[in-house]
Amino acid sequence: PAAAVQAEQLDVTYRVRGRDRLVIRGLDLAIAPGESYGLVGESGCGKSTMALALVGALPSNGRVSGGRLEVAGHDLASARGEALRRLRTDVVAMVYQSPGRALNPTMRVGDQIAESFVVKSASWDEGRAQAHEMLRKVKIADPDLVMRRYPHELSGGMQQRVVIAMALAKRPELLILDEPTTGLDATVEAEVLDLIAELRAEMRTSVLFISHNLSVIARMCDRVGVLYAGRLAEEGPVDDVFRRPRHPYTASLVGCIPRAGMSKEDGRLVAIPGALPALGSVERGCVFAARCPAAEERCAAEEPPLTREDDRGFRCHYPERAGALSRPTEAPLA
Ligand code: ATP
Ligand code: MG
Repeated sequence: PAAAVQAEQLDVTYRVRGRDRLVIRGLDLAIAPGESYGLVGESGCGKSTMALALVGALPSNGRVSGGRLEVAGHDLASARGEALRRLRTDVVAMVYQSPGRALNPTMRVGDQIAESFVVKSASWDEGRAQAHEMLRKVKIADPDLVMRRYPHELSGGMQQRVVIAMALAKRPELLILDEPTTGLDATVEAEVLDLIAELRAEMRTSVLFISHNLSVIARMCDRVGVLYAGRLAEEGPVDDVFRRPRHPYTASLVGCIPRAGMSKEDGRLVAIPGALPALGSVERGCVFAARCPAAEERCAAEEPPLTREDDRGFRCHYPERAGALSRPTEAPLA
């Protein structure tokens, strides 16, 4: 089967006050069928933009401005109208950070899920029966009760289960989860993550999982891509990348992994000195050079190419230096 995602030299641009801002730059990304791929990087690096491009749902001032983007063999960059609508209902599904965004406050939960089935050519009776079945799949103990409720009558964790049920109702080839457990307390978060892992194993859906939290990524993903300022800094098998980073940016992120006993808030990636460069402000050299503890003159002058070695990829002139920067962790990552 076709790759779940195949992006080649992908550029995504937002138009802001008459000027173009290149937010994703020359991104190569491949996700194999059935694979779970994690995307990490600090706030503003372009994770959600990438997700929106993949579901054909960029805001009106955003567009794919270069390269190729295919999802399950369908060309998303050029799809319009009916073809784009079909891609959205049949091929990809997205779970947003806040379940509120996906739920209609004025519609009973059962009808909303049933509607996702009806869109895929079922009758309402059939749709409701499937909605019931789907709520069982997401481990809701009393589906009949929940189906009669309005979204605001459910807890955050329940709402997110309903949203996951709706996303999976489409039987998508690619499921995108953008910070799906932010705002849930730790116990509920763990339950929702278990549920996602279980459903993924059962349904064999390919997954793009976006999170700030590296322990969550380590637990949920096979491979990980590290984004920095719209550029792929590094990618590879998740344990390998986090244990033996080949990019100083990854090394500094790994230094921020929460240890046992730390609060969830401490898992946020906040501890790297400096800030993301303004978009488009770095015209030469490595985008991370200004913040990089291992940078040399060459780094500011010459952008490193994406080097591929076995199943790893990295964009750094001095990949061997990343090892010295990352604190060796004895504790397992997940
Ligand atoms: P976070 O972790 O905070 O969710 P992110 O990695 O998802 O961040 P994006 O939301 O993709 O980041 O944003 C990438 C960049 O694009 C940021 O500089 C952001 O300000 C900018 N951006 C996002 N949406 C728009 C928009 N509609 N118009 C213009 N710029 C935008
Ligand atoms: Mg985001």
